[in-house]
Amino acid sequence: MEQTMRNFFLFLSQNKMLTKLAKHYGLRFGAARFVAGETIDGAVDVVRELNDQGLDVTIDHLGEFVTTEEEAGYMTEHCIQAIRRIHQEKLSSQLSLKLTSMGLDISTELVMKNMEYILKEAKQYNVFITIDMEDYQRCGKTINIFKELKKRYDNVGTVLQAYLYRTEQDIKTLSGYAPNLRLVKGAYKESAAVAFPDKIDVDDSFKNLIKLHLLNGHYTAIATHDDQIIEYTKKLAVIHDIPRDQFEFQMLFGIRPERQKQLRKEGYTMRVYVPYGKDWYGYFMRRLAERPANVAFILKGIVKK
Ligand code: FAD
Repeated sequence: MEQTMRNFFLFLSQNKMLTKLAKHYGLRFGAARFVAGETIDGAVDVVRELNDQGLDVTIDHLGEFVTTEEEAGYMTEHCIQAIRRIHQEKLSSQLSLKLTSMGLDISTELVMKNMEYILKEAKQYNVFITIDMEDYQRCGKTINIFKELKKRYDNVGTVLQAYLYRTEQDIKTLSGYAPNLRLVKGAYKESAAVAFPDKIDVDDSFKNLIKLHLLNGHYTAIATHDDQIIEYTKKLAVIHDIPRDQFEFQMLFGIRPERQKQLRKEGYTMRVYVPYGKDWYGYFMRRLAERPANVAFILKGIVKK
């Protein structure tokens, strides 16, 4: 049943027609629990509140299905504005983005041009940029672009997904670049030909990747809401004397906020991923797919209103 619900929401997340409809109807149906408003102003308020609680942030201007150079240019300008606002408002925030928003599906030249523009601006203001990882089809391309950019910029990192068979090899190959990596379980619907179908294998792979990257001496963001993985990381750090400034935990805005504060209180760096923007639909559907309990929570909210 849970798997059927998951597949259903992942299917909905890729529906272009529903994405358009959602843009028209605004942040209704509970999406506001996971998305910090539709504008940068909304995001700035949320970031400030989180910073006041001692939490670090990475903001993400939501956007998917970019198919023209103009749209990619528009998304790039949004990133530039976000970087400037982070600087002006003195926020403790990084920026996350998706290469498809910057034109990955149009051409490599375009995405490189847009990324160079963003990274130069970000470097000037000391803002770190993380390239989110999207579906398997785009994984190899994303890693290759990351490698090119990392040769010229030290303020860029990317994400690797524990559910993919290829990731162990990727992490080894990338080690030569001393990358700052965010490690996650993986949020897209992938076939058993490329990804572990069973949760237990994904969890084992996640632990293995955390260990590999930390013991290679590289900065690691462990992005999960899973206590089992968090406790594993804490113990690993003690056993191997890994300093606390070599890793951080990350969680999504609206998910386990009490746990976020608790980890901060324990002295760990805790970063919250704060998405904002009009294009919230695909992101919201992936959150529902991860945890059908979220659907019940949101339905209760609608009934209460
Ligand atoms: P799950 O297996 O989903 O959950 C494990 C346990 O966590 C649950 O059993 C429960 O105990 C607890 N939990 C989970 N959700 C809740 C909740 N709502 N309330 C209470 N407890 C809960 N994926 C990508 O593919 N690419 C990316 O670039 C990417 N970036 C991310 C950035 C961040 C900061 C985070 C946190 C996730 C990102 N993801 C990304 C999503 C990720 O791949 C997973 O889909 C998502 O994090 C859910 O997996 P999980 O590790 O939390 O574990």
